[in-house]
Amino acid sequence: MATSHTIATAHHSPADTALIADTRGRVLRDLRISVTDRCNFRCTYCMPKEVYGRDFQFLERSQLLSFDEIHRLVRIFRGYGVEKVRITGGEPLVRRQLEKLIAMLAQEPGLDLTLTTNGSLLKQKAQALKDAGLDRVTVSLDSLDDSVFRAMNDVDFPVAKVLEGIEEADRVGLKPIKVNMVVKRGANDSNVLDMARFFKGTGHILRFIEFMDVGHTNGWKMANVVPTRELVSRINAEYPIEPLDANYVGEVAERWRYKDGSGEVGFISSVTQAFCKDCSRARLSAEGSLYTCLFATEGTDLRDLIRGGEDDEAISAAIAKVWRARGDRYSEIRTADTVKRRKVEMSYIGG
Ligand code: SAM
Repeated sequence: MATSHTIATAHHSPADTALIADTRGRVLRDLRISVTDRCNFRCTYCMPKEVYGRDFQFLERSQLLSFDEIHRLVRIFRGYGVEKVRITGGEPLVRRQLEKLIAMLAQEPGLDLTLTTNGSLLKQKAQALKDAGLDRVTVSLDSLDDSVFRAMNDVDFPVAKVLEGIEEADRVGLKPIKVNMVVKRGANDSNVLDMARFFKGTGHILRFIEFMDVGHTNGWKMANVVPTRELVSRINAEYPIEPLDANYVGEVAERWRYKDGSGEVGFISSVTQAFCKDCSRARLSAEGSLYTCLFATEGTDLRDLIRGGEDDEAISAAIAKVWRARGDRYSEIRTADTVKRRKVEMSYIGG
């Protein structure tokens, strides 16, 4: 049996832990699973109402991977040493009885199991998720200014309810909690310091995300990106910060800490400082397509294999084939032309 430090070259059963590397030597480690393409928000930069309106055809229930199918795939991915699974969407908490899936995945020994949510249903669900075995949550929150937040989520959802969700997640122990703020110039960049001030000293880790050209419907322009360097200097001028070492190779957020000891902030600079070099993430869409890049144009259908009666070995081999052939590094080679490609939407592939 291959050890966890071997790069597998031969065929192996899913019971083995055998690392696989792509054409650039990047090892598969993390899996992000979208459990639904639906969301109860219409964030203007992600699921704009003009596109995701009443007539939009979301996936039918039968098209979604079932919890059993997801669990089976996770077990197969585990055979390649996947240590971390993030449940996402769409909005994962709109998938009914999600805690059942969490309970199934939590049986996997040593798996780091996390979830990204807009926080709208977190107050109601936090305890059940914790009881089911979820380790942590990441909550997206783009502003503390109610009018800015309501305009950005475009469904008039108030900040207060997301904060209640964060409080409840904290109370039940789904922590450390990360709070993700996508910074878009002209929309919420004037709220950056308020967010830093509010979360400083709470134990929650605020992370600023550069607005990205995911999908092809969000009207992305470089002019709307606030580069991490600018954010670091704005925050540093008010609340001095210093860089920290990464927790592990491939960590997406650059870590900084407040010099006064009141906590940590992170910066995710997918546009200005691409981190493709160490990217260890595979993504599974809600209907079971495997993607190796957030900016991909095409995925590989695994659901067909599952529903076609293929055994674990065949599915495992299909995953390995995709990963070994992987050469993508979109953010490193982004140009005005690549930005225009018909990339898959983030709500579909999972953020
Ligand atoms: N609904 C969940 C949520 O709100 O966190 C999970 C899915 S959402 C697509 C995941 C994350 O992607 C959110 O933090 C969201 O703000 C972020 N996101 C969506 N579109 C983005 C873009 N164009 N650039 C940067 N981040 C984006």
